[in-house]
Parts: sequence; C-alpha cells; structure tokens
Amino acid sequence: MSAEKTHPSVSPVLVLFRDDFRLADHPALFGACTTGQPVLCVYVHDPETTRGGAIGWWLAQACTALADALSEKGGTLHHLSGHTPDVVAEFAQAAGVDTVFWNRRYDPTGKAQDTALKARLEQQGISVQSCAARLLHEPWTIRTGAGTPYRVFTAWWKAARAMGNPGRCLPAPRQITFSPLPADARALTLRTLPPAPPLPAGASAAEADWPCTEADAQDTLTTFVEDNLAHYIQEHDRPDKDTTSRLSPYLRAGLLSARQVWHAVSTAATTPALAENAEKFLSELGWRDFAWMQLFYEPDLAWRNLRPEFDHMPWQKSPALLAAWQQGQTGYPLVDAGMRQLYATGWMHNRVRMVVASFLTKHLLTDWREGEQWFQARLVDADPAQNAMNWQWCAGTGIDASPWFRIFNPVGQSEKFDPTGAYIRTWVPELRQMPDKLIHTPWKADASLCRQIGFTPGRSYPNPIVDLKLARGIALECWKNLPDRKESGR
Ligand SMILES: Cc1cc2nc3c(=O)[nH]c(=O)nc-3n(C[C@H](O)[C@H](O)[C@H](O)COP(=O)(O)OP(=O)(O)OC[C@H]3O[C@@H](n4cnc5c(N)ncnc54)[C@H](O)[C@@H]3O)c2cc1C
Repeated sequence: MSAEKTHPSVSPVLVLFRDDFRLADHPALFGACTTGQPVLCVYVHDPETTRGGAIGWWLAQACTALADALSEKGGTLHHLSGHTPDVVAEFAQAAGVDTVFWNRRYDPTGKAQDTALKARLEQQGISVQSCAARLLHEPWTIRTGAGTPYRVFTAWWKAARAMGNPGRCLPAPRQITFSPLPADARALTLRTLPPAPPLPAGASAAEADWPCTEADAQDTLTTFVEDNLAHYIQEHDRPDKDTTSRLSPYLRAGLLSARQVWHAVSTAATTPALAENAEKFLSELGWRDFAWMQLFYEPDLAWRNLRPEFDHMPWQKSPALLAAWQQGQTGYPLVDAGMRQLYATGWMHNRVRMVVASFLTKHLLTDWREGEQWFQARLVDADPAQNAMNWQWCAGTGIDASPWFRIFNPVGQSEKFDPTGAYIRTWVPELRQMPDKLIHTPWKADASLCRQIGFTPGRSYPNPIVDLKLARGIALECWKNLPDRKESGR
C-alpha cells in the first residue's frame, strides 16, 4: 500500500486482530466496514501475550493466513510491536483514526490491556467499539437466580440452553475499503516481522495435520457435520475411531467462531437422531464457554486450586516420573499412545487427555500444574481457560470437577475405548505385533510369545513405572488425610 503524506480526508477506523484470525463472523471487522470509512487492520506482536511452543507456532500460522486473506482483498495487515495499550494508542493517534474496533478478550492479561487501551484512546478522543465474538454467550450473562456465577456445568448448561441460539453469524465483508497507511504512522509499523516461533522438537507431524486457513477450518467443520455428527454420541469417546470434530485448534486461533460451529451443527439436526447427536456435541462446545466463564471470574485458574484443601496434597516431585509421562514411556500403552500423539501432532483425543491427566495426578501423585504446563507447551489448541479448567476437573481440584476418588484405570480405559488397540498401535509401534488381548497389558506376554514377536519386556517397551493398585491406594490415603476435605468432591 502506498504511504500518504497527510491523513486521508475521511478518518480511518482501526481493527485490532487477536486470536480471531478470520474474515467471516468477525464483528469488529464487520462493524468497521459498516462505518463506510477506510479500514486499517492491525496485529500487535506483544511480548506480554506472545506465546511459544506449539500454540505460538499455530497462532503465527493463523496470523499469516489472515494477512494473506487481507492481501487477496487488496489490503495489508499492519504489524506493530510492543505493549498493546501503548503502541495501539500511539499508532491510532499518528494515523488519525477516529474509532478502534476489537473483539473482546476475557483472560486477565487481555482484559487489563484492553481496559488500559480504552482509557488511553478515549483520552485521545478516539472512540472504542468492542464486540462479542469469542464465545456463544458473554461470560457474565448467564447467572444463577441469586445473581452469582454458576459453579456446576449441568445447571449452567440448562440456563445457557434456555437463552436460545447465540446471535446470528455475520458474513465476511463483501468488500473492504482499506485505508492507505498514513505517513506519520508508517514508522510505527514493522517492516520485518519477528521470526515465527518454531514447532517444538518432535512435533513436525503437526504441519501436515493442521492446515491453517479460514477455508481449512470451514472444511473441517463441513466434513464433521456431513460425515461424523451422526455418530458423535456413539464414537466421541473412541480415540481409535478419531471421529470428533478436531475443531479445537481452529476455535483457539479464531479461524472460525463458536457461533459458526453452533449454527452449522444446529442446522444439520434435521432428524431426531441427528438432533440428539447435535445436542451432545453442542454441550461439549458449551464446556468451552463454561471454561471461559470460570477464567473470567477466577483469573488464577491455571495455578490456584479452586478447592483449597488440595493446597495440602503431598504431591511427589519426581523428575523421572514426570519425564516418563511427558515422553510416553510409562509402560501403560494408552497413556503412552496419548502422550506420543500429543508430542508428534500437538493434539490428543479428549478421552485420552482425561486418562493421562488422571494417571499423572493420581497414580503418579504429581501436581496437576506440571501437566497443565506441559499441555500448554505442546498443544496446538492450548487454551488458557479450557486447559486450566480441564486439568482442575481431572485432578478434582476444580469447582465442578471429577472427584479425586474417581481414578481412571488406564488398562480398563484402554480395553473399553481402544478395544482392538488400533490407537495404541498407531502411536506405540513397539507394540504393533502384540495380540489384541495383550496390547493393553504387554507385561503379561509370556516368554514364548515374546520370542515369537521379537519383544523384550523392559527393553522393547518399558515395564509399568508404577503398580496401579498400590498407587491408587496411596492416592486415596493422601486424599483422605487432607484437612477440611469435602466428601462429595463437588
Ligand atoms: C486435561 C485436559 C486438557 C485440555 N486442554 C484443552 C485445551 O487446552 N484446549 C482445548 O480446546 N481443549 C482442551 N481440552 C478439552 C478437549 O479435550 C478438547 O477440546 C477436544 O479434545 C478437542 O477435540 P475436538 O475439537 O475434536 O472435540 P469435539 O468433541 O469435537 O468437541 C467440539 C469442541 O467442543 C469443545 N470441547 C470439547 N470438550 C471440551 C472440554 N472438556 N472442555 C472444554 N471444551 C471442550 C472444544 O472447543 C472442541 O473443539 C482439554 C481436556 C482435558 C481433559
């Protein structure tokens, strides 16, 4: 775009993009376009919010995809660098912007930054339009009769359903009139972009697994609705089937909105059977909103036990056990398959996430925050609210959590949800020759079978790092000894 010496005669408006890398159902962009004023699109490389790990890589891909999409429409995504409230206020002033549009954030840093930015802009006489885009419902809109935030999902979900459908989806603007970059603002933009965060070591499979454009997100949604929605209830717990939507990375980067997913799934529910599956799926999408509602009210969700009695849990601090879990070397095939899938692709099936989280916190008695941080580093869908809430759910430390005494048996879970071992064989190749009957418990293979398939227990594949029964007993004992423990876990 050409630089102009003076401000254009009509003031431009500015759209700030953050984790909403799409053109369709983007209320901030749509609102900016409806002003009829020329638009400046901006992204900030902010050290306070920039992420590393797989999610850093993923968000950088999504940002590039958005820049390409804007460029196809004849525009530019302008990159700034620095603390968002400072650099956006400075840029808006220099560019002669009269309104800044953004989609709202609900995490503590995002909220604080946006509050500060709004104050700065308004002081400068620039108005702000913030929009609801990330969730189905704003976190504060669904409250109990007493006016307090819900603490139990089922009651919250009932209230959410009673609100009806979330608002309609906005189309991508048919045409965007881009503003030229005013000369005074030019110096504030980055000419050379910072290098994109690389994929973490070992995660090269993520590149092929996760194509990253808005069209790819829409294709993933369409494929799910057409091919797999009808089996959702029956198959969503089966990692071997792998028929869940796999939309989480796209939702995380905002390559599509939760509203778009909601409407696509609701519209497809044309028969009672589909409607039942759709309802189940939508309730899972509801957990995403519920997580963000929790983070909105509990900003320290990722590090504070919401049930304070767990502050006294005698967590083990064994680097060796933690490393075995992280590397998928625990000797429990379903746990190892999940951890290796995560390591290689940046994603793991939900059922397996629950199993590995239960195993880490209860069988290895390791603080859930270690697991939360490992997931944050390795997941392409790493989300500050969903990850933290789910770890607290699995560890029993959350407000609506699975009670501590519900300890998943990784062998039983494996037999139930990966009955032929297809998922395990994909991720634990050492066990490919194991018969179905023994794939969940390879340590039980007798010497002649081992010879026959060339398997050396402990060498070909680790022996179990803990005894399940013993570890379970210790976990229950530790929990029983917690001061002020609540029996129900709720
Ligand atoms: C320990 C643990 C950590 C997790 N960390 C994350 C995370 O960082 N980011 C993330 O997106 N999900 C997280 N989840 C939730 C869930 O595992 C993933 O959303 C799901 O596996 C994504 O696959 P999918 O899109 O095929 O899911 P589908 O079954 O197709 O569900 C559709 C969408 O609903 C939402 N959803 C489904 N289950 C949950 C749930 N339990 N909690 C919140 N939202 C849900 C997701 O946005 C998902 O994309 C975690 C779960 C556990 C047990």
